[in-house]
Amino acid sequence: MSKAYLNALEVCHTHGIRPSHQRLNVIEFLLSVPGHFSAEEICEKVQRKSPLLCRTTVYNTVRLLAEKGVLKTIDTGNGTTCFDATQRPHAHFYCTHCKKIMDIDIDEQTISMIDAFAPRRTTHTSLIYHGVCDDCNNEI
Ligand SMILES: [Zn+2]
Ligand SMILES: [Zn+2]
Repeated sequence: MSKAYLNALEVCHTHGIRPSHQRLNVIEFLLSVPGHFSAEEICEKVQRKSPLLCRTTVYNTVRLLAEKGVLKTIDTGNGTTCFDATQRPHAHFYCTHCKKIMDIDIDEQTISMIDAFAPRRTTHTSLIYHGVCDDCNNEI
C-alpha cells in the first residue's frame, strides 16, 4: 500500500468517513497533488488515473470532504469554487487577472488571534485576498 493510500485511510478514520475504495481513490489524489482545484478539475484528474470512477462519486466525495473540513473551500467570487487539501492554516490570494490562486502563509499565532474575534461555534474559515499578482503586475 502506498503512503498516500495509508494517509487517505487515516483521513477517513479521523473524520468519520466510511473508507470505500472509490472515496480512497479521490482522497489519495487530493493528498498527493497539492494545489487548488475546482470539482471539475479534480474529476478530470482522478478519472485519468481511475477511469472507472464516475463523476457523481467524485463530486459527492469532494462535497463530503469539504463538509468534514478535510478540504478548504475557496470561493473566488467568479462563480468557481476551488478546493484545497493543504491542512496547515493559511489564507489565499486570488489573482483577478490570471485567475491563479496562491497560498499566503500566515503564522498560526496570527490566525488564532483573528479566530479569537469569531463566534465560538465557527466551523469554517476562509480568508481570501483579491487583486493582481506580482507576475501579472510586472506584465501590465
Ligand atoms: Zn496573476
Ligand atoms: Zn491553499
